Amino acid sequence: MLEQIKKETKIVSQIAELKAQIKNWKKEGKVIGLVPTMGALHQGHESLIKKATESCDVVVVSVFVNPIQFGPNEDLDKYPRQLSKDKELCEKHGVNIIFNPTAEEMYGKGNTLNHNLTIVTAPSNLKNKLCGKTRVGHFDGVLTVVLKLFNIVTPDKAFFGQKDAQQLIIIKKMVKDLNLNLTIVPCPIIREGSGLARSSRNAYLSNEDKSKALTISKTLNKIKELYQSGNTSKQNVVNEAIKTLDQDIQVEYLDVYDIETLEPVEIIRENVLIATAARVNNVRLIDNIII
Ligand code: AMP
Repeated sequence: MLEQIKKETKIVSQIAELKAQIKNWKKEGKVIGLVPTMGALHQGHESLIKKATESCDVVVVSVFVNPIQFGPNEDLDKYPRQLSKDKELCEKHGVNIIFNPTAEEMYGKGNTLNHNLTIVTAPSNLKNKLCGKTRVGHFDGVLTVVLKLFNIVTPDKAFFGQKDAQQLIIIKKMVKDLNLNLTIVPCPIIREGSGLARSSRNAYLSNEDKSKALTISKTLNKIKELYQSGNTSKQNVVNEAIKTLDQDIQVEYLDVYDIETLEPVEIIRENVLIATAARVNNVRLIDNIII
């Protein structure tokens, strides 16, 4: 029997080494794909990786738990890290390189502690709502690391999940506003059979938490169903749908938004984003659907 030849995924932690490889690929005219992640890869990430390897000649997956996008009381230290498992998944899909720098390699010594850095500022009309209300500075941290990754990898295409809907909108805006030369490829949300959106943070959930957590996507779908059966008043629809949510879940926000401006809408229509952030046993989960 013929054995499938598997390409090894190389782990690179130095920016200079990655840049040298990129330079060679550019000379060869390769189409370069980038999938930025924080690791603990699951089927959601896998769908981005698959899309990237199918449509690019070479693919870099970055695995970097970016300290400057975490607030002081968030889960930076306990965020799941499992590089050897991540490597296996990348290898399965023929990813060329995992870029796994240290915080010091990305930001220089001590810079993440005092934020003594040039920071990309997300537009306030997009960042001061939804997740940005409680995660102050989060989207600036995201844009800063994403722009750095774009500058290091110079990808033709970069792949992002719709799971982080606000992040995707803000990244697309940065690409437009700063005339960056790449295409952002949005990828749909991958869910467990129960409907729970896949997330690295699901690893914090017990089975009991998980069964509570799946009422989050049920609630979003209920809003959609109520709208589709003729109810367009957001207030009525949300008040009804929230009865579907497990009572132990603490909602940070649950609302219906214009897909471009992220302004809440009062009358539900086509092309709106129904989005939520909610805590299950203190684990913060986000989810959304688009009508
Ligand atoms: P993270 O590692 O959480 O920063 O996510 C890295 C990328 O994977 C982001 O673009 C996310 O939107 C995307 N992603 C995470 N979970 C999912 C999911 N369940 N479905 C699709 N994309 C996802």
